[in-house]
Amino acid sequence: MNKFLNIISSQREGREIKDWEGPVLEYLYKVKENPEITNFAPGRIYNMIMKYGFDLIDEGFKIKGYDDLVKYKFFDGKIFGALEPLHDILRFLKAAARRTETGKRILILVGPVSSGKSTIAALLKRGLEADNTEKYAIKGCPIHEEPLHLIPLVDRSYWEKELGVKIEGTLCPICQQFVDENYTENGILKWENIPVVSLKLSEQKRIGIGTFSPSDPKSQDVTELIGRVNMSKVARWGDTDPRAFQFDGELQVANGGLIEMIELLKTDIKLKYVLISLAQEQVIKSPGFPQMYIDTLIVAHTNETEFDSFKSDKKNEALHDRMYPIRVPWNVRVDDEIKIYEKMINESDFRDIHIAPHTLKVAAQFAVLTRLIDSTKVSNKIEKMKIYNGETTEDFKKDELDIKSLRQEGFDKGEGMSGISPRFIINAFNIALGAKEEKKCVNPIDIIRAMRDNFNHHIGISDEDKERFLGLLMGDKDSVSAEYKETAKKEVNMAFLYAYDDQARTLFENYMKNITAFCEKKKVLDSITGEYTDPDEKLMRSIEEIIPVPSGAKNEFRNGIFVHKASALEKGRKFSYRDYAPLRVGIEKKLMGDLKSVVSLSLADTTITDPKAKKRREKAFKTLLKKGYCEECANILLSFIGEVLRKEE
Ligand SMILES: [Zn+2]
Ligand SMILES: [Zn+2]
Repeated sequence: MNKFLNIISSQREGREIKDWEGPVLEYLYKVKENPEITNFAPGRIYNMIMKYGFDLIDEGFKIKGYDDLVKYKFFDGKIFGALEPLHDILRFLKAAARRTETGKRILILVGPVSSGKSTIAALLKRGLEADNTEKYAIKGCPIHEEPLHLIPLVDRSYWEKELGVKIEGTLCPICQQFVDENYTENGILKWENIPVVSLKLSEQKRIGIGTFSPSDPKSQDVTELIGRVNMSKVARWGDTDPRAFQFDGELQVANGGLIEMIELLKTDIKLKYVLISLAQEQVIKSPGFPQMYIDTLIVAHTNETEFDSFKSDKKNEALHDRMYPIRVPWNVRVDDEIKIYEKMINESDFRDIHIAPHTLKVAAQFAVLTRLIDSTKVSNKIEKMKIYNGETTEDFKKDELDIKSLRQEGFDKGEGMSGISPRFIINAFNIALGAKEEKKCVNPIDIIRAMRDNFNHHIGISDEDKERFLGLLMGDKDSVSAEYKETAKKEVNMAFLYAYDDQARTLFENYMKNITAFCEKKKVLDSITGEYTDPDEKLMRSIEEIIPVPSGAKNEFRNGIFVHKASALEKGRKFSYRDYAPLRVGIEKKLMGDLKSVVSLSLADTTITDPKAKKRREKAFKTLLKKGYCEECANILLSFIGEVLRKEE
């Protein structure tokens, strides 16, 4: 019985929050000590994010206007990619915290479905709830307003200077009536005695955090935002008494924090104007009452179609420059996209299923490819995809400037705003898993097929796009499946290479013996004949040509190897062919060429009788298991490549 009780009390440890209550006079000292507690809502949110710190970004990654781009840790593990949008949001918050003209607009995130718009809004809300920066309110105020509002206007400039803060806003009707009746003598407001309480923001408790989602446009009513008359109380108080009014509209709830406006552009124009005057002047107007001061960050979002029609509608012109749109596109970096799937999978039913190596990558590559725009700067989209992902292959070695201009072009043309959504990919995973009962593993071939099949269950993709997407997925060349075939081949070759490690070493030692003699202008001792001969130029070149080292550069290359050898020896290590990348590539590829038929043969014949060959196959299989394959997907990979190699012969 006591066990659970102990757990419960230990869970509570460290979670206590001391409630505070005291007169404004004491509150003034708190402000003096830490002016941050009276920050405007956007400033509070800005500080909340900055408190977590940030990581620096590689210079080569920054495009025009983003010289100060960083990666905010606040979003770590929740938002992947989206560095520029998050940077734009922080820039907006800074402006809004200072109440500059730029910041006096409605922040609106524009992007395709599941690009992370609502996740961003949700993270800001949860962040505010967890934030430990103190916050206080006038006791009993329905909109939990800032206690400094009690300071009479004429005295504010003194207190602003004294406390080092900015005081903005007037009392709400309820507080006004309350202090008039209880704290005013001979026309003097004894504001220093009015009780103040500590405040914890909570969406659940409707304190400082609100969400508004538009209902049917015909039934939308401003009262949802600004509150309404409570008919049952009118009889008692009369209809001009604030006590007969319910200040519980979503904007009043969100005072001091944030309001998320879902699908803002679907809201009625009347509601939009309420929001605009709020963003512009920090006030809302409830009928029969003076303007009411509200300090909240409006975070709106919408999809691009909706935004485009809003932009092109002349009727909306007056509203256009009241909005601060920030584009939140889908990822165009494969590695970031993979992280999204990993997160989605961890949160889903199939987290116990084995996901074969390269499976998520194949899916992410497809998603990214569909989002890329054509560019004359690259030969195809696969190349662009790899450049974006920071991969370099032998086929292209771009310098930083080329990469920058490529990214700039993509950014300017709205790359990532159309294509395939992460949702589509996760649906494909469901298809792949549903295809077989008792499935314990998904592999890249499964997911390629499932993505293809998912087009039949997807509305909203035109036939033209579908054809284009299928080409990117299954085409013979420059497609996801062609890429995968190459990767899989390399993977199998590498596995066999480990099985042939002794041969790689022999080849390397032979090469080293020959170049040593070559560089020292000596002869080589042939261990079999016992005779001295010239270094074996054919052998040396057979490796160097693969790297490739042009014949004019061979002397330099051979001499260069000794530098690497010396540095390995200096560190007390034996110099191996793995220590120097180009040489490693050369040796492995040379061996691979010699081995190709062996690999092909041992894959084709599963009933190999030669014990040596059998052992090597087993060794290769074990290598695959070590690299993250399970027995099921390792076998599938080997037979897939066996088939590919047979076709190539
Ligand atoms: Zn109030
Ligand atoms: Zn597996």
